[in-house]
Formats: sequence, structure tokens, C-alpha cells
Amino acid sequence: MSQRETDLSFLRRCVELAREALVAGDEPFGSLLVDGAGEVRFEDRNRVRDGDETRHPEFEIAKWSASHLTADERAAATVYTSGEHCPMCSAAHGWMGLGRIVYAVSSAQLSAWRAEWGLPAGPVLPLPVQDVAPGVPVDGPAPELEDAMRELHRRKAGLQGTSSA
Ligand SMILES: [Zn+2]
Repeated sequence: MSQRETDLSFLRRCVELAREALVAGDEPFGSLLVDGAGEVRFEDRNRVRDGDETRHPEFEIAKWSASHLTADERAAATVYTSGEHCPMCSAAHGWMGLGRIVYAVSSAQLSAWRAEWGLPAGPVLPLPVQDVAPGVPVDGPAPELEDAMRELHRRKAGLQGTSSA
């Protein structure tokens, strides 16, 4: 598989995790940590339903990496995520010295959708990862997954969906 196909396959798993989160009543975000050998070592999804608004999967990944990976392993790892890291998660990723980030949809895309749907802006600025952690290589968005993610966010917003998913 090419790097791009490999990236898309991991991103598809993130979209599945985001869908699981939505079904469970959480927000539709899911993420994976893949080590330098290409193995998925940890995955999680958003879990804010019970009131802890910091339970983002990318933040959990950064905390998990502190006790499970060496500094070299962290630098060689890639974090895949359905939605670009928020500033909190970008900072945690940067502080832990984790490697590349690959996202399906950007914070700018998500903000634009929310505005289009008449939803208020969130309490934290939707800064790009590299405005917070400039040393982190970042790839995204993946246009192949845009429709699927837009639909999940639209459902979370309680708007009428366009597909039967
Ligand atoms: Zn976050």
C-alpha cells in the first residue's frame, strides 16, 4: 500500500470510532496512535457525555504515551484522528514529543459547518495544530472522508441528515 492508502485506512478506523462515539451520545471524534512499525497501539473516542469536556481521544493518546512509549517511540509514532486536534490536544501532543498527525477533517472545516448550521462557536479557538505545536508534521484533510464526517457532525447537531447511515 502507498503511504496515502495506509493513511486512509487508519483514518477510516477513526471515522468508525467517531461513529461509535456519536451512537453512545458523545461527540463524533475518534483517534489512533500507530507506532513506527505501523501497529495500532492505542485507540479511543470522544467521551464527554458525562460532563468532562476534556475527554478528547487525542488528549488520552498523549497521556497514554507518557507511560507506554519511550521518547524515541513517541517521536516515531503517528496519531490519526477524525478531526484535527483542538489547541488543548495539540499542546499535549507537542509537550509529549509525539510525531506526525494525520486528520480527516480540519478544525476550519468543522467551524465552517457549524457556522453554516447556525451553531455557536465553541469556547476554544479552532487554531490549526501548527499554530500551537509548530514542530509537528501534519497531513490533512482527506477529501474522501469529508462527507462521512460532515454527516456525523450534522447528526450530532440534531439536524436532518442527508443519508440513511
Ligand atoms: Zn481536543
